[in-house]
This record gives sequence, structure tokens and C-alpha cells, in this order.
Amino acid sequence: MSHVFPRQIAAPPVKAVSGEGCYLIDDSGKWYFDGSGGAAVSCLGHGDAAVIKAIQDQAGQLAFAHTGFFTSEPAEKLADLLIAQAPGDLDRVYFVSGGSEAVEAALKLARQYHLERGAPDRRHIIARRQSYHGNTLGALATGGNAWRRAQFAPILIDVSHIAPCYEYVEKDADETAFDYGQRAAQELEDEILRLGPDTVMAFVAEPVVGATMGAVPAVEGYFKRIREICDTYGVLLILDEVMCGMGRTGHLFACEADGVTPDILCIAKGLGAGYQPIGAMLCTDAIYQALAAGSGFFQHGHTYIGHPVACAAGVAVVDAILSRGLLPRVNEMSQKLRGALHDAFGQHPNIGDIRGRGLFLGMEFVADRADKTPFAPGLNIAGRFKAAAFEAGLICYPMRGTRDGQYGDHVLLAPPFIMSDDQVGEIVDKLKRAAIVLDT
Ligand code: PMP
Repeated sequence: MSHVFPRQIAAPPVKAVSGEGCYLIDDSGKWYFDGSGGAAVSCLGHGDAAVIKAIQDQAGQLAFAHTGFFTSEPAEKLADLLIAQAPGDLDRVYFVSGGSEAVEAALKLARQYHLERGAPDRRHIIARRQSYHGNTLGALATGGNAWRRAQFAPILIDVSHIAPCYEYVEKDADETAFDYGQRAAQELEDEILRLGPDTVMAFVAEPVVGATMGAVPAVEGYFKRIREICDTYGVLLILDEVMCGMGRTGHLFACEADGVTPDILCIAKGLGAGYQPIGAMLCTDAIYQALAAGSGFFQHGHTYIGHPVACAAGVAVVDAILSRGLLPRVNEMSQKLRGALHDAFGQHPNIGDIRGRGLFLGMEFVADRADKTPFAPGLNIAGRFKAAAFEAGLICYPMRGTRDGQYGDHVLLAPPFIMSDDQVGEIVDKLKRAAIVLDT
């Protein structure tokens, strides 16, 4: 009997023993193509020699120094690397150990910023339905997936949720994509006015919605309008790039494609590429200076912030993404994979949409392609698709909850940036084998 508490108690996981390039190998010797990079984590694949060496070297030299007393060379270096690439005036980095921690830190920073500036009434958070921001209580409250929130609702902080930007379902037939985006963004202004402009502290959104919607980017102009609304009312814009950031979309930071710079940006997953748990919150100098000139203290912290080994891994990962030309490679492989997915499934009666950016792609399953009717939730199509793909030797990331949190199915594909042309064919062949479950 295993004493490990598994994530899915009803279906305990297979034991992984090693990783090599784009593959994971289990204890029976079976190989799996890591088509989702876990959950958009393993951007460099498994067994990257440079990252492993950086971790070994740093662990040998200095494994831990508490940030209450020390900074370290890897933390300084990683912050410099990120800020050199970050858009706009983001120029401070607060390191954490994962995505939920980054979101918690962002919420606390937003609140403290308003307090330091003498606006204690600014307490409301606005986020979007069908978003995922993590599993700690503040991050869970911010996320807008009804199914995930349901059991914890009585103990969650109050967060308003507006509609996501979801062209596939929400755009009217006679509306342009741009006009639809402006209409969707208008919900933010309406909600700020409803709550009272001087009471809103932050708006939180994923530039490309990952886990709950399956790689859904916003339409052009949506985030520019969101930025304008936030500026008008003094509301901080927090973008959560925990899943879609770090090169996944073909830009190091996903918000670059939308032409906006948030006040606070959260990253994680791809930053450590699975080699170390690490996340970060980037913020503007204006926010940092408000704290510096005020209490001089960020009232937040975790034991492992700025962990030297995790930061050394982050330096090696960012260096690999930039120096190996992986951003152009993401765009090149994206075109190939999207093309192959369209060829294989573009006319499939139960695939309603193939979408995404870079190597962050989603396929939406529907009972009827013509009117986009979702499958009934009891069919658990995404779960069965994942299981069939796993059987065929492909890891993809499933989720129900595309529409109102109760139904709608999709899978997310987020393969390592190092995948080859042949492996595009391998992914599609395995997806075809899994697609048999759609013939219900
Ligand atoms: N934000 C987003 C957008 C995510 O996708 C996730 C994880 N799937 C998180 C936050 C939470 O990250 P973690 O699981 O590392 O806490």
C-alpha cells in the first residue's frame, strides 16, 4: 500500500521513473509523449543537461539562505534577466515557489499599495468566470470556476466575476471580433461602477485562459480597453501568466501580444520548467516606491522565497529559452502543430474549436459542431479522452467547465518547445486514437 496521499484518490496515478526529452517513462517501461508538459510546465522537456548542472552547482555552493537576512547571486541574476525582458515599467521581482503563491502575493501587494496611498476602502477584487488562479484560498476565491469553488464558497473572500472574453461562444454572428471584445470589456467598467469606483482594488485575468477554458486568448483590443478602464478608475491590473507565460505563446510574456503592461504580473510553471518549484510576481516601480515611501515593508512572505537553487534553475531556463532561439521555435512548431490538428480534426463532428497561441493550444469537444452544443456533463468526455490518450502514450490536460462551470469539455496541448517535426505526427496519431471516445 502506498502512503502517499494522491491527488485523485479514486484513480491513483501511475509511477513515473524517468524523463528523457519530450517523454516520461513509467515503472513498467512504457513511454508517454508529454503533450501538455504536465500542466504547461516542462517547456524544455526532461533531462536538460544545462539546467541540471546549474541546480547541482548551486546546491553544492549554497542551498538556502533565509531572505529575512540574505539575497543571493542567483536571485539577483534571475531578477535582472526577467526585468531586461519584461514589458513596460515592470521592474521589481518578488520570488515565490509556485503559481498560487504568486497570485496571493499579487493580491496582498495590491491591497497594501492602496493602503499606503491612503485608500483603505479599496478592497474589492474583480476577476472573470472560467478562470483559474490557484488553489490557496485567496487564489481559489479569485478563480471563476464554479465547480472548483463550490464546496469552499462559505470560506472564500468575496470576489466579483465578470464574463471572460470567449469569442467562440459569446460573439454575436453580426458583430466584429473587435466590437465583441469591447463589449466584453465593458463588463469591467459596469462592475467597477456598480461596486463603487473608490472601493475596487484590482482586476485579475489570464491573458490566455488555460486550465478552465483550454487556451483561449482574448480578441484584439480587449486587453487594451481593460487597461484603459483600470487606469480611469485607479484599479490595479494583475495579469496571471502562471500557465501561459515564459515563452509558451511565442512571446516570453504573453501580454506582449495584447500590447498591454499590467501593474502586477504573475509567472511560475515554465520559469522552473519542472526542474525546481518557483514562481514570481513582477510589479512596477510605482507600486514598489509606494511601499518603500510608506511602511517600507511588504506584509507577506514565505520561507522559500528567492530560494537559491530554484533561482539558479530559473536562470538556466530563461537563458535556454533566449539563447537557444526557442521563442521563434515555438512559433514555427505552433504553425506545424496547428496545421496538423486542423487537417486531422478540422471537420470532426465533435470538435468545435481548435485555438490558442504558440504551443498553448486547446481543442473543444462538442456533441454538435453546428450549434456548439456541449456534451452532457455525465459523459465526462474530457476525462475519458485524457484516459484514452494516456493509454495510447500521450499526456494531454483535460478539463470540463468551459461554459458555466458545469459542462463543456476540452483538452489542452502544451508540448515542450524542443519537440521535433516527427513528434507533431506522433501527437496527432495518438490524439486520433483517443478521439474514438467522442463517438458516443
Ligand atoms: N494561475 C494559473 C493561470 C494557473 O494555471 C495555475 C496552475 N494551473 C495557478 C495559477 C496555480 O499555480 P500552482 O499550481 O503552481 O499553485
